Amino acid sequence: MKDLDFTPVRLKTDILILGAGGAGLFAALHAFQNNPALDITIAVKGLLGKCGCTRMVQGGYNVALAPGDSIERHFMDTIEGGKWLPDQDLAWTLVTGAVERIRELENELGCFFDHNPDGTIHQKAFAGQTFDRTVHKGDLTGIEIINRLAEQVWSRGIRRLEEHRALDFILDAEGALAGVLLVDVRTGRYLFVQAKAVLLATGGGPTMYRFHTPSGDKSCDGLAMALRLGLPLRDMEMVQFHPTGLLAGLDTRMTGTVLEEGLRGAGGHLLDGAGVRFMANYDAQTERATRDVVSRAIFTEMRAGRTTPNGGVYLSMGHLGAADVLRKFKGMVERCADCGFDLAAGRVEVVPTAHYMMGGVEFARDCTTERAGLFVAGEDSGGVHGANRLGGNGVANSTVFGAIAGETMATWLAVERAFREPDVSKLAAAVARAETAFAPGPTTSATVLEEIRETLYQAMWDDAGIVREGQGLARVARVLDHLAEGLAAFRLPAEARDRAFNVTWHDALNLDNLVSVSRVIVRAAQARKNSCGAHYRTDFPDPVDPASSLYTSVRASSDAKLTVSAKPVDFSRVQPGHSLVHAT
Ligand SMILES: Cc1cc2nc3c(=O)[nH]c(=O)nc-3n(C[C@H](O)[C@H](O)[C@H](O)COP(=O)(O)OP(=O)(O)OC[C@H]3O[C@@H](n4cnc5c(N)ncnc54)[C@H](O)[C@@H]3O)c2cc1C
Repeated sequence: MKDLDFTPVRLKTDILILGAGGAGLFAALHAFQNNPALDITIAVKGLLGKCGCTRMVQGGYNVALAPGDSIERHFMDTIEGGKWLPDQDLAWTLVTGAVERIRELENELGCFFDHNPDGTIHQKAFAGQTFDRTVHKGDLTGIEIINRLAEQVWSRGIRRLEEHRALDFILDAEGALAGVLLVDVRTGRYLFVQAKAVLLATGGGPTMYRFHTPSGDKSCDGLAMALRLGLPLRDMEMVQFHPTGLLAGLDTRMTGTVLEEGLRGAGGHLLDGAGVRFMANYDAQTERATRDVVSRAIFTEMRAGRTTPNGGVYLSMGHLGAADVLRKFKGMVERCADCGFDLAAGRVEVVPTAHYMMGGVEFARDCTTERAGLFVAGEDSGGVHGANRLGGNGVANSTVFGAIAGETMATWLAVERAFREPDVSKLAAAVARAETAFAPGPTTSATVLEEIRETLYQAMWDDAGIVREGQGLARVARVLDHLAEGLAAFRLPAEARDRAFNVTWHDALNLDNLVSVSRVIVRAAQARKNSCGAHYRTDFPDPVDPASSLYTSVRASSDAKLTVSAKPVDFSRVQPGHSLVHAT
């Protein structure tokens, strides 16, 4: 066999953006707008415009526009929904920036959102909010947003590296960021992109749970890369479960996909297996309670055995009138019909499904991180939502902070930064890491990966999911250690050694990152000995007093040992027990 050349191809660019969701594309457009002379490159694991979760946004985009609503009200809903754990300056940036970004999306980028007869933008109800403020295009809002963003990026001279997977950040000999090692999925060839500024916008994505919603290209790659770089990740125990994932049996990938929150907002009912409505037993807001409350209620019903044939509960919309449901939720009705369910007139089986990571890389309002030259935006970042994200605040987060990141990077390049030369030993080490599955050693059956994935899904669902306790967390920690050993020993079988589009190899890389980030989730969950928002422990059920709120911050040392610290929340704008919204 001819010797393979592992020397990465080299490329130089001013700004390298990892990820092409709302955060990555907004960053590219705003950096370009700030300085069209910049050389900007977007590297994305999938196809630009066709991958990631922004495209999957169904419900919509939260923004205070309507008379009677206010950014203060949006802010307070975000802080109270997040159980006083959000970084208040980040949350304020979110709610103020959302107003500008929605105008840009509609008036400059050409998004058609739904309108009222008087011409104003229609805003619908979403759970956990005191005002109907969710802008939408039917129930397929993300497709509208991402298509318009992609067109704008295509029309500018922004370089695209599609089906390129980021593997690791590469430092120079002094320890400063020099660029990123990627692999071209189509050929298996390594590429080193030397960049003056790098944006991490790979979109997190809790795809380590049995039931999950995010797109298949997301495997927490960016978070694992940040961890390996030694950056702190905050609030990682805060994993949001969407209460209503479609449950259509374990043999279809449709299981776990989201049936949007607007269904409950519009008056949908949740029924146990016997057809009895149960949410009033858990919360006065019934089906419109926040996601954590509804998910826990469903999980409790499931554990008590009051389930549907596939082991979940029912979502029922028929009492609202089938024609109306079809008109308002066409996408949802069609999705359910594909799986044999009648959402408009009948009942659909649902299960809570891992949806969003509130945790991520610690960052500042201008999207800078601890590492000079590295910026973060979107779901890879932590601190905006605290213990719970309001539905509709996710896409607002990625677009608002994506735009800020683009502007910050352009400004940063105007005053600083030359290209830095990568330390070749670090580059070689990163290549060797990615090559683990090809390394010498007895080959493994590809089914081993399937077993690792199944074990990961089940262990995280059982012991680090909606309801947690100390013994279960210790158990899942041991399972993760064992899975990490299995992955380190995994060697591609002879029939799966072609590097081009090697799904098995990428599966192993995905699982490696998922196991690393799962360990962080578990470590943070072990450290948080109270219940707060999305994090609920049966051995510490009491909620934390907001006034003494601490957030978790996890870091990995060079030998991958995790340390966790607890840091006080800075109530920079409003103290617990107070509000920025004053009764009139
Ligand atoms: C089904 C569903 C419905 C949702 N509905 C709503 C809603 O109604 N309202 C709301 O506010 N939020 C919603 N969300 C959440 C929202 O989609 C996300 O919070 C937001 O879009 C994330 O944007 P992002 O740019 O950070 O990441 P994404 O849009 O997910 O983009 C991540 C990008 O990174 C790329 N990538 C990943 N790994 C790598 C790698 N190693 N190298 C290079 N590229 C990589 C991906 O291919 C992708 O292009 C929903 C999410 C899902 C899954």
